[in-house]
Amino acid sequence: MEKYKHYINGKFIEGSEYFDSIDPSNGKPWALFPAANEEDSNFAVESAYNALFKGPWSKLTATQRGKLLHKLGDLISENANHLGDIETKDSGKLRAETRSQSGYVADYYYYYAGLADKIQGDVLPIDKPDMRVFTTREPIGVVVAIVPWNAQMFLSATKIAPALAAGNTVVVKASEQAPAALFKLAELIDQAGFPPGVVNIITGYGEPCGRVLTSHPKVASVAFTGGCDVAKMIVKNTAENFAHVSLELGGKSPMIIFDDCEIDSAVNGIVAGNFGASGQSCVAGSRVFVHRNIYKQIVEKLEKESKNIVIGDPLDKRTHVGPLATLAQVERAKDVLKESISQGAELVFGGNIPKHMKSGWYFEPTLLLCHDQSIKSVQTELFAPVISLIIFDSEDEVIDMANDSEFGLGAGVFTQNLARAHRVSQQIRSGIVWINTYRAISPISPFGGFKNSGGSREAGLDVIYEYTRTKTTWINTSSEPMANPFVIR
Ligand code: NAD
Repeated sequence: MEKYKHYINGKFIEGSEYFDSIDPSNGKPWALFPAANEEDSNFAVESAYNALFKGPWSKLTATQRGKLLHKLGDLISENANHLGDIETKDSGKLRAETRSQSGYVADYYYYYAGLADKIQGDVLPIDKPDMRVFTTREPIGVVVAIVPWNAQMFLSATKIAPALAAGNTVVVKASEQAPAALFKLAELIDQAGFPPGVVNIITGYGEPCGRVLTSHPKVASVAFTGGCDVAKMIVKNTAENFAHVSLELGGKSPMIIFDDCEIDSAVNGIVAGNFGASGQSCVAGSRVFVHRNIYKQIVEKLEKESKNIVIGDPLDKRTHVGPLATLAQVERAKDVLKESISQGAELVFGGNIPKHMKSGWYFEPTLLLCHDQSIKSVQTELFAPVISLIIFDSEDEVIDMANDSEFGLGAGVFTQNLARAHRVSQQIRSGIVWINTYRAISPISPFGGFKNSGGSREAGLDVIYEYTRTKTTWINTSSEPMANPFVIR
């Protein structure tokens, strides 16, 4: 089995403990990863801290930082297929998806490479005589980036690239469930020529690794993507160091299908939003609201579509839906389905482990007809290819139902009526609304949610301010000495 090493302070070092990573397509261990203990986690933070305050990194110009990021983007682009293949082996996501996503990740590095030397301050029209006052944007400090297993290359890029562009140093904690691609990324970071300690990549469990990183006194900021339960622990941990926290959490996104929509486009949207990435996407549009006038047509088309879906090996080009990342997710999907059916939901198709897959963690694309939102499958973020479909009659009713969720990450609206598209989009409480499309992303476009989906934003211009703090400098320009404060004139 392949054995990976921590990447700390510019060196690949052995761990003191290792764990197996399992290939979800067959349920067998395929590689060994070091589980960072307290000492490793502390070392990673100390290395990032020294690189920031004592190493050559802070002496580089912003343009030089941008050039390094550009070089890293080139290396990612050249190695996109290899990175994608590793991610597929480790997470079970389709090779077609991981390869194209890894290629696109390079664009995030290019975008922030270009932005590095455009982070500037202001000269203030200050209300005092003989004073020159200006602001500069300073790096916030050591950034800890914690990512989940479902899109490690992408979710780490949205943190590493802006953090480095702004002049910070970073410790990345890869998910213990599929860390391999980030260790390959470490090799590319090394090859690009970043000074030692500027980026450190480790993996490990919440305890001790996650706890030590997020409560460490030398950490200034924690950028987290994952679930709400872990987010709560991180917020508690940062009471120790008052680190700034940005949160990108879960979702249970609504897709609203009006009766004036282009039906085939809506069906493609529902399939992309629910069966793409085998349903393991934070923006899965898993609450599908369909107008009563067209619901029979939509259900028929989805049923027909489901018969053409190929479930199989994620490395095989012909596969549409691969395995789930963990056995626990398969068990959870089964349990939630059982409970939903006992509450009155009607199973239209799917709902089982596919018979032709003799090993691995597969689950059939599934459609449940739910009479209202009290059904368990409508309430629960599943991370499995399961659609909960609900019929609606009016625009006001569906907006209320769409907003009746603890989450507010994405939303989809399918309609040919432009005024309605704008009207509904304005009223939906979510960070992203896709009209007549779904799951589109870009480095140029901010990404994030409302409510329990976390209020932070990643990508786009403004995120750079998450990774900087304003410093205000006052200069007395008078030729006179500073006045004695105890002498009243
Ligand atoms: P998770 O919350 O279980 O784990 C995320 C990361 O947190 C992992 O690296 C894990 O090791 C780490 N962690 C665990 N305990 C910790 C602790 N005490 N301190 C610090 N770190 C700790 O999430 P998951 O199961 O890996 O991923 C699925 C979740 O991620 C879903 O809820 C999904 O919606 C969410 N997600 C959100 C987005 C987004 O952009 N909003 C994107 C992808 C996934």
